Formats: sequence, C-alpha cells, structure tokens
Amino acid sequence: MTMQNKVDNLKALLARIEREFSPAAFANSFGAEDMVLTHLIAREFRGIEVFTLDTGRLPRETTDLIRVVEARYELPVVAYTPLPAAVDEYVRTLGLNAFYEGLEQRKACCQIRKVEPLARALAGKKAWLTGLRREQAPSRRNLTDSEFDPAHGITKFNPLIDWSNDDVWAYLGAHDVPWNELHDRGFPSIGCEPCTRAVKPGEDARAGRWWWEQNAGQKECGLHVRTVDTSGLKRGATA
Ligand code: SF4
Repeated sequence: MTMQNKVDNLKALLARIEREFSPAAFANSFGAEDMVLTHLIAREFRGIEVFTLDTGRLPRETTDLIRVVEARYELPVVAYTPLPAAVDEYVRTLGLNAFYEGLEQRKACCQIRKVEPLARALAGKKAWLTGLRREQAPSRRNLTDSEFDPAHGITKFNPLIDWSNDDVWAYLGAHDVPWNELHDRGFPSIGCEPCTRAVKPGEDARAGRWWWEQNAGQKECGLHVRTVDTSGLKRGATA
C-alpha cells in the first residue's frame, strides 16, 4: 500500500469516527505517532476532542511540545491530572518513586496517574483514539484498527495500527509537523520522565520504558490492558 493510500484510509476513518462516534476523544501523549493524528485532527477533524494525561511526572520536552501544539494549531488540549489525594496517599505510604521497587508498585502509580484520569477523560464519550502501532511492542501484535474496549464500555480506535515507523516519520517530515525533541536523543517511546530512558542502537523501541522490568510483555501502563488493584501495597514491599 502506498503512503497516499494509507493517508487516504486514515482520513476516511477519522471522518467516520467524527461523524458516527461523536463525542470521540483522542488520548494524546505527543509521541511521534500521536503527532500524525494531532496534525490531521487539528487541520481537518476538529470534531474529535484532544486530551492528554498530565501525570505530573512528564519530561519538560513533552510539556514544551504541548505548548507548541496549542499555539501553532490553536488547538485546545484538555489535560487530565491525577487526584491529589490519591497521589498524596501513594507518596505517603509507598514513597514518591516506589515504582522502581516492583511491578505492583509501578502499576499502582500508573493506575493513579494515568488509568484513573483516563476513565474520567472517557466518561460520556462514544469512542476514543490512540496512536498505537502493531510493530511497537509484542503486547500490541494482535491489535486491530478498532475494537470494543470493555474497560470503558466504548469503541477504541487505533487508526495507525498498520503504519510503520518509517511511515510516521515520512509523514511528519512531509507536513512539517513538530515532534518531541527527545526522539532526536534516542527516545523512540516517551512516557513519564523517571520511567523512560534512551535506547541503544539495536535495542527494542520499548526497551527504554520501565527499563528495570525484565518482561517485555508487561511494559504497558494499564491504559491498554485491564486495570489493577492498588489496595494492600505498603512502602518498601516488592512484587
Ligand atoms: Fe508513575 Fe512511572 Fe507510570 Fe508515570 S510511567 S505513572 S511515573 S510508574
């Protein structure tokens, strides 16, 4: 399939989502893939709401890019932040950076800073959109461009599911779309600052996410898998 065919298919899908699934919302983490969708939605599909999960631990480069996008595209980006009481409880009982101590502690942090705010962002929506691509991770191999999301009871669209990394970067270059400068410093996948590092040449694109965890199949924050039970954790406990 040519690049033009892929773009035409993408636009047709975005038009259908805008027409048939309103209100629909795009979960934007401002990575390279998400900038393709940001550009198209801002230019042609304004009926799709754009939001981001401001975890409170984002790198400066990401928050800088959000300001650039808002100014350049005059695009309002709704930011959903974690509940202060839940963050306070996590920090008080487990410690600010307890996610380094074990998988349960890490998922508990993601639950508070990402999963719960996502549920608020999607309340009342008919559908949501992501920039997931099949080749990004083993956990994404079986994804399709649309599926029913049982966690939120709505349709989830992954419009870039068949795009390659080269497709994404060709599109950004051809349309002069801004990107997160961390991509230029060896970060193919960007999340929270303390949980993301650059990858070495030849390393998997997701290797820099939660790099201290060994199982690549676990490297999701809970936005795209079932939610986790955070009760019962104590400071210093390891999973
Ligand atoms: Fe917390 Fe790290 Fe998950 Fe961000 S990526 S919510 S800092 S565990």
